[in-house]
Amino acid sequence: MKLTNAIALYPVVALGVVYTPIKCIDWILTVPRHSAFSESVRVLFVAVLSAIILVLCFGPSYFLRPKVEPYQLKNKTPFSQVWISEDENAAHISLVLVYPYGERANPYELGLAHYVEHLAWHNVRSESGNQGRHSNAWTSATSTGYLMSVDVDALSNGIERLMATAQPLQISPEDAVQERDIVVSEYDFRVSENPFQDMRDEMVNELYGASGYARSEIGTRESIASFTFEGAQQLHRSSHKLSQAKLLISGPVDRNLVQDILEQLPQQPDLEPSIDLTVAHPTMVPSADIKSITIVGAAERQLIVRSVVSVPESVNPLMLEALINATNQMMLSTKHSGLTKSLRFDEFWARTIRFTLFQSGPSVLEIFTSAVPDSKVGLSALKAEFEKTMANARTNATQTDFESIKSRLLNKVDSDIHVLQTNEKRLRFALSTGGTYSSLSSYRKALKSMTFGIYTDFQTHLDTAPRTSTRMILPSN
Ligand SMILES: [Zn+2]
Repeated sequence: MKLTNAIALYPVVALGVVYTPIKCIDWILTVPRHSAFSESVRVLFVAVLSAIILVLCFGPSYFLRPKVEPYQLKNKTPFSQVWISEDENAAHISLVLVYPYGERANPYELGLAHYVEHLAWHNVRSESGNQGRHSNAWTSATSTGYLMSVDVDALSNGIERLMATAQPLQISPEDAVQERDIVVSEYDFRVSENPFQDMRDEMVNELYGASGYARSEIGTRESIASFTFEGAQQLHRSSHKLSQAKLLISGPVDRNLVQDILEQLPQQPDLEPSIDLTVAHPTMVPSADIKSITIVGAAERQLIVRSVVSVPESVNPLMLEALINATNQMMLSTKHSGLTKSLRFDEFWARTIRFTLFQSGPSVLEIFTSAVPDSKVGLSALKAEFEKTMANARTNATQTDFESIKSRLLNKVDSDIHVLQTNEKRLRFALSTGGTYSSLSSYRKALKSMTFGIYTDFQTHLDTAPRTSTRMILPSN
């Protein structure tokens, strides 16, 4: 029998075992010939005995209940937040230190945040001579993070090594140049060999204008060439402050041990001076753009439509998550309110269809759609049909379709047998996007309370997407 099942049965067994004796004691005390006890003593005795029994019954199952959620330490630490996810089945402890700034907040050359990440990682390596590197760090639009896997007895050392990312950059000028070359080769790998890159940059600029959202984390060849160590130092000082960083410790850890370790950490004040890293958010200005372009290296004709729309004001983050999941599930279903039935299966308009609605910032949603036409279908004809189907899906959703999509999403939550891991993923996502952590069970509550009316209001809102960028791609060979 699994331990959790045993724990669940414990109260039942315990109640059975103790119910009989307590009933006997009660009977003995109430029998007249034993009435040497006064009535009040008898009541007190039974009350105390009952309290002890209650603790015996439910205490162990309360304290031994399976841990399904990471929790946040309330003690004062060098970090802005410390989270612990106790997973005794994990082989190692994994540490993640996240700074809440990524490329969107970088006011300097494109991609400099990524270069700073490379340089800061040198601090960790010089602390320990550890060679595990780049795969253990990331720079995204919204965060910079460093990861490490350690054994339990190396926990303190691991945390200190990660803290070194906030110390002044320690790297020789030659190594700094060499690290820039590594960033160039990453650019070559990720960008210059991707035939769609120019088109993507162009679409992003149309969608997000001059905001930080249009910035590319990998940069351009020119921007990387102009990186300087001094520029990196300035950005590092402002973006790598422990007082703003969030630490997640997961694996076979004990909270008391973590608290002891954190209390003994050396004091490390934030670096000064600091520059303003406020992110410029996009403004929603109507735009419409359609371009037919030829892309050398594209394998097939394709229609790509991207649009952005604001997050509806009245919707809280958990309901928004439910609405996003329901919309994605619905659009890719063969329901009447979906895209694939009429476009892909009933009539052969498109061979493949993609639809992804996601949150690209605190107040911004993006819809990414793409479709590959069937052999005899023209791109313009596909585009017209695509728009018609999309409008129909948004305005003619039926309650029956909605209810079945909703119950499928609920089933997905209920069949999750790794709730702790799922919650940990949710936490990591929140840390790296600057969002607020919420548990799977609170998401389930939002999902449960999502009504058909809330769903259709949301679809109407999506239909008003003010900024759109459309491309029809023709391959050249
Ligand atoms: Zn890199």
